[in-house]
Amino acid sequence: MTGGIGMTSQRTRARMIERLREQGIKDPMVLAAMNAVPRHVFLEEALSIRAYDDTPLPIGYGQTISSPYTVARTCELACQGRRLERVLEIGGGCGYQAAVLAQLAQKVVSIERIAGLVGRARNTLRGLRVTNVAIKIADGTLGYRDGAPYDAIVVAAAMPYIPDELLAQIRPGGRLVAPVGTGEGQRLKMVEVGMEGNVESDLEAARFVPLLPGVG
Ligand code: SAH
Repeated sequence: MTGGIGMTSQRTRARMIERLREQGIKDPMVLAAMNAVPRHVFLEEALSIRAYDDTPLPIGYGQTISSPYTVARTCELACQGRRLERVLEIGGGCGYQAAVLAQLAQKVVSIERIAGLVGRARNTLRGLRVTNVAIKIADGTLGYRDGAPYDAIVVAAAMPYIPDELLAQIRPGGRLVAPVGTGEGQRLKMVEVGMEGNVESDLEAARFVPLLPGVG
């Protein structure tokens, strides 16, 4: 993949990687993936100067691209230090996290309910020559059964609770990472799926856009 120029250069991205390390991201594969994907190309030109700041930014339709820390943290939790075969992302947005996951997995399925964002994400990924991501226009609340089982499911919009149907689409040994709750009260949760039952952990405060029903 090719980078940009000036403020969006490889050096700016390298500073983002340093900051992610300071924030506690350790997995070298995740840091390499964050370094490989040019975040600025997922944003409109006026915002690209802020692309490597640690902040969510607007992508239109009232939605946001998640902050670099959030993307790196959720990828790290999903991967557990290994390369994945299949990953499902719920809430694809502009396609940035899907592009990062594409470096960490053989195949990424990403579900997004807003058709305008799907069109843009597909174009951006094509421009970056990312070929192992399939983006579907659908309500991803209950996952995407046709692509199951997954090694991991990463949810990028806050859910009121974790549906059993999502956990049923994860292979034993795999993980679900999702923000759960509403407004200020959201928590990042992880569920480790096992043969003999699942283990849920409550990790940290989170701030995601809400999961919405239907196709927009
Ligand atoms: N991972 C994205 C984050 C996008 S924000 C990125 O890297 O930019 C979350 C996205 O979830 C929004 O685009 C929103 O439209 C989408 N979303 C919300 N509810 C959804 C649902 N039920 N099914 C699929 N996508 C949903």
